[in-house]
Amino acid sequence: MRQSLWLSDQQPSSAPSVQQSITCDICIVGGGISGIYSAYVLAKQGFSVVLIEGLSHFANGTTAYSTGKLSTQHDLIYSKLSLEDGLLYYKANRQAIEQVMEQNPASFSRATSFLYSTTQQGKAQLMEEARRYEQLGIPHIATKETELALSVELALGIKDEAQINPVAFTNHFAALAKKHGAQLYLNTRITKIELKKRLLLTNLAHSIHYKKLILCTHYPIEALKNLTMLKLQVSRSYLSATKCNDLLEGQYLSIDPSSRTIRTAVMGEDSYLLYGGYSHIVGKQSDVNYFGSLQHEVQTLFELPAPSFCWDAQDMMTFDQIPYIGQVDESDDSLYMATGFNKWGLSSSLVAGHLLCDLLKGIKNPTSALFSPSRSNFGKALYFMLQNGSFIGKEFVKGYVTRQDAPRCTHLGCKTRWNEDDETWDCPCHGSRYNKDGQVIEGPAVYPLDIKKSGHSN
Ligand SMILES: Cc1cc2nc3c(=O)[nH]c(=O)nc-3n(C[C@H](O)[C@H](O)[C@H](O)COP(=O)(O)OP(=O)(O)OC[C@H]3O[C@@H](n4cnc5c(N)ncnc54)[C@H](O)[C@@H]3O)c2cc1C
Repeated sequence: MRQSLWLSDQQPSSAPSVQQSITCDICIVGGGISGIYSAYVLAKQGFSVVLIEGLSHFANGTTAYSTGKLSTQHDLIYSKLSLEDGLLYYKANRQAIEQVMEQNPASFSRATSFLYSTTQQGKAQLMEEARRYEQLGIPHIATKETELALSVELALGIKDEAQINPVAFTNHFAALAKKHGAQLYLNTRITKIELKKRLLLTNLAHSIHYKKLILCTHYPIEALKNLTMLKLQVSRSYLSATKCNDLLEGQYLSIDPSSRTIRTAVMGEDSYLLYGGYSHIVGKQSDVNYFGSLQHEVQTLFELPAPSFCWDAQDMMTFDQIPYIGQVDESDDSLYMATGFNKWGLSSSLVAGHLLCDLLKGIKNPTSALFSPSRSNFGKALYFMLQNGSFIGKEFVKGYVTRQDAPRCTHLGCKTRWNEDDETWDCPCHGSRYNKDGQVIEGPAVYPLDIKKSGHSN
């Protein structure tokens, strides 16, 4: 079934849509894990918070399509950062995870996170990462023996990490945010931001006046047609969930060129193996049948039947593997964002909640420069932006040459591409997605496609 495992027993969300114009101190747009957790932290600290979500449920964006690992082991990262940055990054994630584990023990289960490789080259990379763990004081294990039926050259593990059902976890914090006084709204899409007036307009023709705005919309929406677009790349991955008998103790990510992610989960009465991979930059997919290949691997490597659930999702990647959390532009202290989670947004969203709260309270936070959206590592960032800009430019032109009849994305006008597997119109430029009727299911676009004009209406 083409559906996320986490959405298979979704409980109904109860929150109204915005029915009148509102004035508030802090408005958060986006009811995924980053928006909801930030609303919870801010409301708990006494801020008056309004959160607006376009969909009919919270946590139904990318959050619902993740693997649900709550980990400090974000791929190979510590060996790529300076010692100082690595320590800040590790501590911020560790503290945020430990805090939720202490306060909400029912919302997760413990697991050891492993990076593994089946090649000699990968082994060398893992040994370098392990050396960096040593220097940073990150407790770890290195072993060749794993519970996986794979011939592993080395696995590098961090104990006492967590696994969650990301939808249930986010809904848990939505309830807590409400309890602390946050006003949460569903079925309300922000269609316009007037930054100078500190005003948002909704699809229901109401306005929201705010003092501070936090964009937790995954891809920052419309208003930010500036360099932010070039600072983000959209990467898609594919996942499957297959009924299994045995649960794994660890959660795994291979660092080999075609990376795979593995964990098990219990949903209701059943246990599932989650198995995924085949990441690619949106617009750069190959001819591989991704779901067919995952199914084949699950059946041959794990001797399991065909998956019960298959889904794909995309996340924002940054030039240095570090998210953008904080003030969007240093000259404007009314606009903040949390995005660019590099497929580790479950734990990084917890970090975001605490960092945004400190920034809004005016408290000095040691990680603010590390996560700042306006940080620059001039050479690396510029190269990333040039590469990204050139890719988007090429896709824009290619769309008009090869897909003349396809509907134009309402974000910046690139020609969309029909995705037969998901029955969606996908924009290869910035990753907006629309259902077959042209309604937005993923931004940055905020307006529906003009399906009629392009002759694609049903
Ligand atoms: C395949 C895959 C597996 C992953 N696995 C993991 C993992 O195991 N561990 C981990 O840490 N991370 C993982 N990630 C990353 C993680 O899922 C994301 O980084 C995280 O869920 C992002 O949360 P978010 O709240 O920023 O975005 P979302 O969950 O997408 O929420 C954004 C919300 O904003 C709303 N919105 C957008 N525009 C508007 C608008 N104009 N008006 C109103 N609402 C709007 C959307 O409807 C959406 O609900 C994975 C990512 C992928 C793609």
